[in-house]
Amino acid sequence: MTAQLPFPRADVENLTREEAAQRGALLEVTHYRVEVDLRGAPAPKAETYPVRTRIDFASSEVGVSTFLDHLGASVESLVLNGETLDVDAHVGPARILLPGLRAENTVEIRSTSRYSRSGEGLHRFVDPSDEQVYLYTQYEPADSRRVFPVFEQPDLKARFSFSIIGPQHWQLRSNSPAISRMPLESGEAAGAAKGEPAGADDAAEAAGAAVVGPLVRVEFAETPRMSSYITALLAGPYHHVEGHYRGGVPGGETVQIPLSVLCRASLAEHFDADALLELTQRGLDFFHAEFAYPYPWGKYDQVFVPEYNLGAMENPGLVTFTETYVFDTAATDAQYETRANTLMHEMAHMWFGDLVTMHWWDDLWLKESFADYMGSLAVDEATDWTTSWISFANGRKAWAYVQDQLPTTHPIVADIPDLEAADQNFDGITYAKGASVLKQLAAYAGREAFREAARRYFSRHAFGNASLGDFLAVLEEVTGANMDDWARAWLQTAGVPVLSAELDAAGGGAGRVLVREQGVDPATGESVSRPHKIRVGVHVMDAAGETLALHAAQEVFLDPAAPEGLTPVPELSVPADRPRLLLPNEDDLTYAKLSLDPESLAAVLTYPVADPLARATVWAALWSMVRDGELPARRFLAAVQQLGLGIDEIVVVQGLLRQSLTALERYTPADERPALQRDLAARLAAELTRRTGGDHQRATARTLATLSRREGSQLELLEALLDGGAADHGISGLRIDEELRWAFLQALAAHGRVSLDQLDAELAAKTTARARIAHRLATAARPDRRVKQAAFGQALAGTDDSGEELSNDHLTATVDGFTVAGDPETAAVIERQTDAYFDALTDVWERMSQGQATRVVSGLYPGAQDLDAGAEPTEHPLALRTQRWLDENADAPAALRRLLIEEQDQLLRGLRAQAAAQG
Ligand SMILES: [Zn+2]
Repeated sequence: MTAQLPFPRADVENLTREEAAQRGALLEVTHYRVEVDLRGAPAPKAETYPVRTRIDFASSEVGVSTFLDHLGASVESLVLNGETLDVDAHVGPARILLPGLRAENTVEIRSTSRYSRSGEGLHRFVDPSDEQVYLYTQYEPADSRRVFPVFEQPDLKARFSFSIIGPQHWQLRSNSPAISRMPLESGEAAGAAKGEPAGADDAAEAAGAAVVGPLVRVEFAETPRMSSYITALLAGPYHHVEGHYRGGVPGGETVQIPLSVLCRASLAEHFDADALLELTQRGLDFFHAEFAYPYPWGKYDQVFVPEYNLGAMENPGLVTFTETYVFDTAATDAQYETRANTLMHEMAHMWFGDLVTMHWWDDLWLKESFADYMGSLAVDEATDWTTSWISFANGRKAWAYVQDQLPTTHPIVADIPDLEAADQNFDGITYAKGASVLKQLAAYAGREAFREAARRYFSRHAFGNASLGDFLAVLEEVTGANMDDWARAWLQTAGVPVLSAELDAAGGGAGRVLVREQGVDPATGESVSRPHKIRVGVHVMDAAGETLALHAAQEVFLDPAAPEGLTPVPELSVPADRPRLLLPNEDDLTYAKLSLDPESLAAVLTYPVADPLARATVWAALWSMVRDGELPARRFLAAVQQLGLGIDEIVVVQGLLRQSLTALERYTPADERPALQRDLAARLAAELTRRTGGDHQRATARTLATLSRREGSQLELLEALLDGGAADHGISGLRIDEELRWAFLQALAAHGRVSLDQLDAELAAKTTARARIAHRLATAARPDRRVKQAAFGQALAGTDDSGEELSNDHLTATVDGFTVAGDPETAAVIERQTDAYFDALTDVWERMSQGQATRVVSGLYPGAQDLDAGAEPTEHPLALRTQRWLDENADAPAALRRLLIEEQDQLLRGLRAQAAAQG
């Protein structure tokens, strides 16, 4: 269908870098006044709400046109510089044309927007526990246009004055503190108080007829200059706890910052507000000292919101987090630490990203890499957790290494031609590789230089925008060195360097250590060397003969120009008579895959490494080797069971458990898989009895549930645990709460051992948001042809059986439930949908939001695949089928193709590892 468009590109949601650059050069946006009328939000099935927007902006050229971005439901009126414009002729599906600009302009728009169910724009959620309605906004990279008409690009910063109309008893919040809170007289419409002609009836009607109790209009203080993607609104009967911060930049003025933390009322009993407020205070102290720039946004609210698409979002003064961080079931210390890391990450953004913002999404790393690095640094230095860099080495970096070896990898400074590309770029490169490279930079240039560079960057670009060159400029000032080569090697070239350490044979075996650095630029296939500062460690068997302990370490700069990439490490002794480990990335200072020499590999597969960070670095190296087909999955699984499960740091154990499941699914040859799965399940069951309470036992129980869902060998044990029979199996201290109950039920459902009635009864007994998601997964996991077909249809349609749109969590649960194959017949039913999957891809991409479509496209891509003995991985039917789709859909959206290319690559990587393990 082609509609008659009122002006060129009126329907184009996908704003390009070029368009943004042109508009950015033309305009200077001064101020927005936005009023959002949420009086109708509590009504059942509320769909839309009225919005009034006034924007003041200047144009450097007179008489030309520009456009606003808008993805609302409708525009009722459009007035530019006092002149009413014909809506039909000026409003397209995605843009609003503003013709005949003057030097100074004011545009006023009355419009209607839709509540979101996909977490993009203004999301509306009904709490199943108590039927209360909760709303919050999420905009990055470009969804404020779903709420109000806006020049949606990060470098058109402006001041914003928001107001919200809503029920008096609700929390109504925005980036700035409220400055007035006036009761709304009955019948009064949005905007009427400002003397505008009524339209009152329309507004009230559009807002929904049901009014719940008295209403208020809350006006918020004008914000400092900021980008539209970090503006935010919040409304609902949120539970809130207030606090305050007193402190500031050392040597500077003492300031008071009001703090609050909020969550849904039904989660209040689980909300550890005091702990969150204390972390917040510590974080503010830390960043004040680190950046020497006072917190710029007045107050600091942190809200834990339902059905959130991501971990958190750094809206100045109103940070949103996923409410999975409100731990209503038992959580491990690693989960608390992850939450603290996220809290610090978002707080770092108040400076990196909010105060100084990238011009365009190419430089997304300028905020995400920094926030990711600073988040870990703050947890390490400003909290009681001592495992921050261990989590980083083993968790965050694993994400980066995986992504950086995909064919779709890209330099940290990316080429982002448009918004769709921007959306796909919130990835392991931008976050975790960028943070790893900054950790290396802090080692390479020195922590003090790094800190000073950040301080100059903020004071120079506060409330403005910046790009790579601006950061390099301050870095060069403080180091006195030219950083171009460094930036080219690390920020502008993709790919993972490989480090190895070896003994210099020419040295007579006495043990001079050489470090080899090599890399390939995936874009050109040419070899590339990078500058590093590293520490090389030698770990040897201790006197008791039990562990590999640090014997000596030496710092060294690796010169990219070193002959053959080999750098000798001076004065590092290596005893020749005992088991030993040469670790070329001691302290995990740099970003590199490690290739362990044979002696080191044999040692770490046999003996535990004593130092926690070295240990985490070694396990990361082992996992890389599994993925590269250099270490058979069975040897990795054996090492996890022998050495891994006993590790103290729960964050490492959780990572190893996850990797074990992946190793079984992807990297294990079919003929070895059943026995290895059974072995691991039995070992986990034994581990449940060996531990009494605590994080390790809980992590074990979760993994066992997931594994049993797949292979079904410990179902009697899960049944017994559900029925309160833990003691009969020698298990004590395990809290079988809502989370574990559902995890066990899902495993049992996958093997046909619980009925739909039982699942329904469990949900009826406790109807929480979590339970509804878990119930959906369990239902779709049942081994029944019709169940699978229905789940598949719902996932592709994005709706439930009554045609209602699925929220993101429910969509994921449907997808995950569908892919569970409890027995071979069910696996065959799932496999028969493969063609339908490929046939539906472009339609799904077109119909759904990018976030939803990604869940479906990646989630439904066929899972565990086996390689026949002697077969060629690239000839595997699924690899061929994927290639056929890629060939036939060369013109499909780049972001969709990217997902398929990545899935195909992961498939081939797994099959190659299987082939290697088969020998
Ligand atoms: Zn971030």
